[in-house]
Amino acid sequence: MTGSGAMVLQFDRVTKTYDTVTAINAVSLEIESGSFVALVGASGSGKSTLLKTVNRLVEPGGGSVRFEDEDVATVPLPALRRKVGYVFQSIGLFPHMSVGENIAIGPRLAGEKLSVSRIAELLELVELDGSYANRMPHELSGGQRQRIGVARALAGDPRLLLMDEPFGALDPVTRDALGRRVRDLHQEFGLTTVMVTHDMAEALLLADRVLVMDGGQIVADETPRALVNGSGGAIAQGLVAVPRSQADALEALEE
Ligand code: ADP
Ligand code: MG
Repeated sequence: MTGSGAMVLQFDRVTKTYDTVTAINAVSLEIESGSFVALVGASGSGKSTLLKTVNRLVEPGGGSVRFEDEDVATVPLPALRRKVGYVFQSIGLFPHMSVGENIAIGPRLAGEKLSVSRIAELLELVELDGSYANRMPHELSGGQRQRIGVARALAGDPRLLLMDEPFGALDPVTRDALGRRVRDLHQEFGLTTVMVTHDMAEALLLADRVLVMDGGQIVADETPRALVNGSGGAIAQGLVAVPRSQADALEALEE
C-alpha cells in the first residue's frame, strides 16, 4: 500500500434501493489516504451508485458515508464537491460553455473565480496547451474532452478524485496514455483516487487495490498481484480470466 494509514473514506452499511432493485446492499468499506482504488464489476452491479453516494449525487437509503471523518450528509454541497473531484462517465462538459468555463465551474459554484493562469496550469496538467481554454467542447476529440473532464475535477484542489469509467469511450492508445497521466497526477498531488471501470486489465495495471462488485456488494478486495495469483474468489477470477487469456493468446503468437 502507498497510503499513509489514515482513512479518507468510510462506508458504513450503505444501502440504496430503487423500487424493487437493491443497487447497493449494506456496503462497508474503508479507503486509505493515498491509495488508488479500482472498483470493477459487471454492468448493473452498483459501481456508479456507490461512487455517487460520496459526493451526494445519490443519497443512501441507509447507512453513512464519511469523508475525512465527516458524515457527507452534513457537509454543505459546494464545499463537499470542491474537495471531491469527480470525472463523469459521460464526460459531461457543458456544450454551451467554453473549455475554460467548464474547468472553472466547480470553484465558481463555490464562490471563487479561477484566474486565466490557473486555468492554463490545469490544462497543462492534462497535457493540453493553455489556448484550449477558449475552445468549445464540440471542437475537441473524445480524448481531449476527457482530459478537460480530468482538469475540471482537479480545479478545486481536491484531496479525493472519483472517476466513473473515465476512459471507457476512448480509443485504446488514448485510453492508455490518459490512464498513465491520471496515475502520475494521483502520485504528484498525493490524491486518494477511486476509479470505476468494467475493464479488469485497466484496474490491474493502474490500481493498488481492486474491489470487485456484484449484486450491490463488494465480493473481492485484493491487490492486483493477489488477483493475478488467483485470490478473490470465482467472480473476481472470472474477470481476471479475460486479460489473462488475451495475454496468453498474444504470447502464443510470439516467435
Ligand atoms: P453499474 O455502475 O455497476 O453499472 P449502477 O450503480 O448504475 O451499476 O446500477 C445498479 C443498479 O441500480 C442497476 O440495477 C440499475 O438499473 C439500478 N439503478 C441505478 N440508478 C437507478 C435509478 N436512478 N433509478 C432506478 N434504478 C437505478
Ligand atoms: Mg455505472
